[in-house]
Amino acid sequence: MEIEPTEEVKESPRIHRLHESVVNRIAAGEVIQRPVSAVKELVENSLDASSTSISVAVKDGGLKLIQVSDDGHGIRFEDLPILCERHTTSKLSKYEDLQSIKSMGFRGEALASMTYVGHVTVTTINPGQLHGYRVSYKDGVMEHEPKACAAVKGTQIKIENLFYNMIARRKTLQNSADDYTKIVDLLCRFAIHHIDVSFSCRKHGAARVDVHSVATPSRLNAIKSVYGLSVAQNLIKIEAADNDTSSSVFEMDGFISNSNYVAKKTTMVLFINDRLVECTVLKRAIEVVYVATLPKASKPFIYMSVILPPEHVDVNVHPTKREVSLLNQEVIVEKIQSMVESILRKSNESRTFQEQQAVEASPSVPPITKNDLYPSPSPSGSKSQKVPVHKIVRTDSSDPAGRLHAYLYNNTQKHLEKDSMLTAVRSSVRQRRNLKGTAYLTSIQELINEIDSKCHSGLLDIVRECTYVGMADDVFALLQHNTQLILANVVNLSKELMYQQALRRFAHFNAIQLSEPAPLHELIMLALKEEDLDLESNENDDLKEKIAEMNTQLLKQKAEMLEEYFCIFIDSDGNLSRLPVLLDQYTPEMDHVPEFVLCLGNDVDWEEEKTCFQSLAAALGNFYAMHPPLLPNPSGKGLEFYRKRKHGKSPQDGENSSSHVGGAIAVEDEFEHELLSEAETAWAQREWSIQHVLFPSMRLFLKPPNPMAANGTFVRVASLEKLYKIFERC
Ligand code: ADP
Ligand code: MG
Repeated sequence: MEIEPTEEVKESPRIHRLHESVVNRIAAGEVIQRPVSAVKELVENSLDASSTSISVAVKDGGLKLIQVSDDGHGIRFEDLPILCERHTTSKLSKYEDLQSIKSMGFRGEALASMTYVGHVTVTTINPGQLHGYRVSYKDGVMEHEPKACAAVKGTQIKIENLFYNMIARRKTLQNSADDYTKIVDLLCRFAIHHIDVSFSCRKHGAARVDVHSVATPSRLNAIKSVYGLSVAQNLIKIEAADNDTSSSVFEMDGFISNSNYVAKKTTMVLFINDRLVECTVLKRAIEVVYVATLPKASKPFIYMSVILPPEHVDVNVHPTKREVSLLNQEVIVEKIQSMVESILRKSNESRTFQEQQAVEASPSVPPITKNDLYPSPSPSGSKSQKVPVHKIVRTDSSDPAGRLHAYLYNNTQKHLEKDSMLTAVRSSVRQRRNLKGTAYLTSIQELINEIDSKCHSGLLDIVRECTYVGMADDVFALLQHNTQLILANVVNLSKELMYQQALRRFAHFNAIQLSEPAPLHELIMLALKEEDLDLESNENDDLKEKIAEMNTQLLKQKAEMLEEYFCIFIDSDGNLSRLPVLLDQYTPEMDHVPEFVLCLGNDVDWEEEKTCFQSLAAALGNFYAMHPPLLPNPSGKGLEFYRKRKHGKSPQDGENSSSHVGGAIAVEDEFEHELLSEAETAWAQREWSIQHVLFPSMRLFLKPPNPMAANGTFVRVASLEKLYKIFERC
């Protein structure tokens, strides 16, 4: 019998104890992952020492030198010998203290770790002393007795040659230029939370400071001085709280960006119980709201401070304390998310008006300032301060603070001149907007209010709380809500969601650019031919041509309005080239474009403003709904459709075609592979969208209308309790 040679010689490896210095170095590498982690620990120590001024100097992205100086209470002379030993701390003595710890440090690991991976020198002076002390550390111990020296109030800690003994780490970091940027970013974050402390950060030896904040009572001022006016002027205040011990207890306040803010990356500055932490779940939850609520593809700026009972936070879950784990995290995230959503929605409604007015304002009119946009806590005490964002546009025209009316008046003239060229609906909208001023697009507001008032609360609960199980067939998805199993018609649901989105995003859509402009005339002809496919007659082709022509002309006339309010772009030659984004990450099935265009011409009421918008939104809803793809579903009976037929017969010939193929002829090329894979992709994509776009968006935005309770959109299949009972009996 043959034995594999490796098995013959394999011996169990010996287990041995690592040398303590190796253990410490490994642990240190975890705590101090990069220069920025060292800076974070040092700054946190300074904050724990009640400093009011903290300055940081950095050389070579922190690899050559990191120096943090503060004006805090300093370190006692007698503590210096054990300062950098592992697990020496002044902040925690028993394990239970962790439950109520308020300081940022508590493990006594940071300074020790630094001495294992760098050269640490501490200079410190206690209040009332004539001189301070300086001492250097290596591998946790003092290298010499502390030396008396002149010192200014507080502590200065210097780390030189970080990772000098970790070649690989040093090499990777040397090649990355962004460590200084990370350090600057870190200090910006601290600076906008600890507004009673002044921070500065510079490259060693440079005159210029890259972060400079002075203590201020106003958070917005701090944000302005750190992130600039362009950020600060586009923020909205946000607050949320809950005090229900059965669900969640927390208080949150902060600032989030409005729809004028533009950035490619999300900035989320999150403090939980005054600790700078990351919470990916919360970040994603807020990003989703931005993507779906605001028209611009901008990522948000978020500053949030969340306060929880200390015993609800486990601070000890991450080596760098970067992440914390919270009791009832899901509930808290959801509450914050819905607050963000409602605030954004309000600000978006008012902005619609502000932005248009601001853009069209004549240069002599002062631009809208930050005080107009949010209630500023700045000390100037102007009257507009207390006005909530969504009320600003609705100021009474007799109110001298209603600066926006200056724009209104100017624009009335301009718009009235233009009106003659506009379509009936558009001009009526304009006039209403200009003459009444405050009644901007009441019709849209009314339609949205109707959606809200007709919302079925039971269905709303289902939509918000259900779990998507999977598709039960081409149209129904299986959902679980508490102990109920429910079938839900995704076509009806998506149609309604798209309709509601079309109204909510009114005039603020991102665009889907068609790869090639599509001529309306041809699209309409296609749709008309499809309509009477069954008749297979060509006799009324003339009539179809006429309808197509008339509709094309009509839509060309309405082009300006369609573009401005619904982002449906039709050029002067009658080509459709742009469509609105109703839900991000979702493009409608282009097979339905002809039907949609025909519907625009035939089914939209162009006479009355409100019905016009309603029917347009309904047409969009129908077009964007997640209909089953035109190609039959290949998983299941639909597969027959893709079986190759002999004699050049078209696949539409139906199911009996399988008899042509049968038995011996059934070789590998039995199927129309290209078509089949096209169908598979289409169905897989739809299912992906249903699960990852439709259901999450419905959870956030859909207000299911009352009729949905009775029209077969939701069908209760079974209660799990009953099913379990049945299984038990088996
Ligand atoms: P921890 O912060 O978890 O206690 P560290 O290793 O970061 O552990 O610091 C050890 C101790 O050194 C702290 O508990 C604190 O007493 C003291 N210390 C460190 N930095 C400072 C500072 N800048 N000012 C005053 N005391 C400090
Ligand atoms: Mg510390």
